[in-house]
Amino acid sequence: KELSSAEIRQMFLDFFASKDHLVVPPKSLIPDNDPSLLWINSGVATLKKYFDGSVVPPKPRLTNAQKAIRTNDIENVGKTARHHTLFEMMGNFSIGDYFKEEVIPWAWELLTSPEWYGLDKEKLYVTVYPKDQESRKIWEEKTDLPAGHVYEVEDNFWDIGEGPSGPDSEIFYDRGEAFADLPADDPEMYPGGENERYLEIWNIVFSQFNHLPGLTDNSTYPELPHKNIDTGMGLERLVSVFQNGRTNFDTDLFLPIIHETEKLANGYHYDETKDTTENISFKVIADHIRAISFAIADGAKPSNEGRGYVIRRLLRRAVLHGQKLGIQGDFLTKLVPAVIGTLDSYYPELKENQTTIEKTILAEEKRFNKTLKAGLSLLDEVIAEAKEKGQKGISGADAFKLSDTYGFPIELTEEQAEEAGLSVDLPAYEEALQAQRDRARAARSNDHAMGVQNAALTDLQVPSTYVGWTDKAVLGAKVV
Ligand code: ATP
Ligand code: MG
Ligand code: MG
Ligand code: MG
Repeated sequence: KELSSAEIRQMFLDFFASKDHLVVPPKSLIPDNDPSLLWINSGVATLKKYFDGSVVPPKPRLTNAQKAIRTNDIENVGKTARHHTLFEMMGNFSIGDYFKEEVIPWAWELLTSPEWYGLDKEKLYVTVYPKDQESRKIWEEKTDLPAGHVYEVEDNFWDIGEGPSGPDSEIFYDRGEAFADLPADDPEMYPGGENERYLEIWNIVFSQFNHLPGLTDNSTYPELPHKNIDTGMGLERLVSVFQNGRTNFDTDLFLPIIHETEKLANGYHYDETKDTTENISFKVIADHIRAISFAIADGAKPSNEGRGYVIRRLLRRAVLHGQKLGIQGDFLTKLVPAVIGTLDSYYPELKENQTTIEKTILAEEKRFNKTLKAGLSLLDEVIAEAKEKGQKGISGADAFKLSDTYGFPIELTEEQAEEAGLSVDLPAYEEALQAQRDRARAARSNDHAMGVQNAALTDLQVPSTYVGWTDKAVLGAKVV
């Protein structure tokens, strides 16, 4: 099927609306009154209050398409085909309502029915938790998933410490041999392994058990009296399948931004068929400008800590990749209209805040370019001093200061030093960097995969006595 990203998003919501779900509009990327989370990083993160029983949902069946930011994937952007910092997660949720028997056949219907997505069944694979034979049986008996397409994966258990936990089932689309980045005999070359052939499109979490304090073996966790379903499907990945993009970037969500960047690049062109370093730069810029634009539209501002620092870091990375493409001067604001053009129909907040987005980006970009200049002149001094003293290289401390204070990338320091016939003490630099990362990690809340993200869900009012969606919680909760 030829479907636009807007149609694919809408079809997901329409499907679950047809199964009696309430369509919840997307929420701000900035968590509402939730200090445990830096950014909304999954669809369920915005619905936490319904899952923890503190607020009664308007309906026990909900569906949404939610913008999300995952900073843990920054380094993957442009290198893998499937990761972004900002992406959209589509999900359906059961709050003490339906469970495995319903959700698995529905997922299958949406993916394969010609009335809906109509994907080729032969290309779909699923993983289950080995001890969750119940889910395996439902996949095998209640759907016409081809025989041999269920894999048991030990990691498929969502457990974040005390509170709700349970097995999950992931759905993969086989993109074909051309997409295999590992040889066929590599043990990772299977659905659920770390390879680019089997693209993980959808994760279904069966919140079934209560991890009570003191328990360590998940086969001893008691069942929750009221079980929940939480799912997440990556829109950009699904779009790459429908539009036959080699990566998520080769779709109507990113190409308009990339083409706009090409106009500014000095003779460099984006080539969909290759993995050149220039192509990575085009992708990183397109990814980061989306994240920056959304974050600013939702009220975040560049700064030196927390969310502000994420914006600053993304912007700096985008500027440096722009330099690799020979782009002269400030350019990021010129991409904002393309970002708006690709997402306006579902996220009017971008257009509404266009002026703020552009002004904020321009000021920050100018500031960074100044900083880069300052970094260069400091580096010149450091080099001159090292030479004067007859040293062979630049110290790790100086290299770290340049990257940390001036946002000056280490590769640039190495390059300049090399030109002057000097080395850089990389081990000492790495050590300083690691120490800084450890400090940052300690200060940051958990911010990665869906399981850990759902840590948000265990931040309950009475964690040790929580037994799921109890009647008591319903009675005591505020209805909104
Ligand atoms: P992966 O293993 O590919 O990193 P994940 O298991 O970390 O994905 P989940 O936490 O299960 O992802 O999130 C649910 C869905 O959201 C995934 O199946 C995928 O479709 C999508 N998704 C997750 N992370 C990203 C990302 N960084 N960029 C784009 N889509 C993502
Ligand atoms: Mg995964
Ligand atoms: Mg997953
Ligand atoms: Mg991940």
